[in-house]
Amino acid sequence: MKLVIATRNKHKLEEIRAIFHQPSLEFVCALDYPDIPDVVEDGDTFEANAMKKSVSLATATGLWALADDSGLEVDALNGAPGIYSARYAGEPVSYPANNRKLLEELQHAKNRKARFRCVIALSSPGGKTRTVDGRCEGVIAHEERGKQGFGYDPLFVPDGFTKTFAEMDAESKNAISHRGRALKKATEAWGAMLAKNPADWPTGR
Ligand code: IMP
Repeated sequence: MKLVIATRNKHKLEEIRAIFHQPSLEFVCALDYPDIPDVVEDGDTFEANAMKKSVSLATATGLWALADDSGLEVDALNGAPGIYSARYAGEPVSYPANNRKLLEELQHAKNRKARFRCVIALSSPGGKTRTVDGRCEGVIAHEERGKQGFGYDPLFVPDGFTKTFAEMDAESKNAISHRGRALKKATEAWGAMLAKNPADWPTGR
């Protein structure tokens, strides 16, 4: 069966494909449907935005749809950039500009604790939706390190490690990341159900 991934972000797509692999699923993504407009991410939470993205793509395509909404919360910045992580330094979206801004904001901060959060939403073709979430605690480094990954990866050192996410290979990041953890929950909760190629969520859930 076809599962449409509600993202045009190739890095996210690669991570989702690598972790949420199910033999019965053929992945397509929002890039395969250029005529369907992007959703405005105006929810107050990761969950609201993830649900909005998956519901809108499921109902537009008539397929099961999976969406990720994610971001970085920094304690010294009261949880910013949070749901505004993608556009932290404004438009157009720029990972280097976001990272520069984060380092500037934290230049005098003693507390560099932060976490990545991810909510994964799955919608049936009729738009009924469930979510799971994952997080990864860590600290913000004093300078960018590493070339792998995307976004804030060069600045994020997960707890228990000395390397940033951008210094790790994809498999090591996915084993502990917010997205990896949420997608493992998604596989456990929904994998068997999706393998049966259902038209909608089983009743009673
Ligand atoms: P979204 O597309 O609205 O979910 O925006 C997510 C933003 O959060 C991305 O553009 C990145 O800036 C940041 N982000 C989310 N997940 C990651 C990750 O795994 N590594 C680095 N940055 C991430």
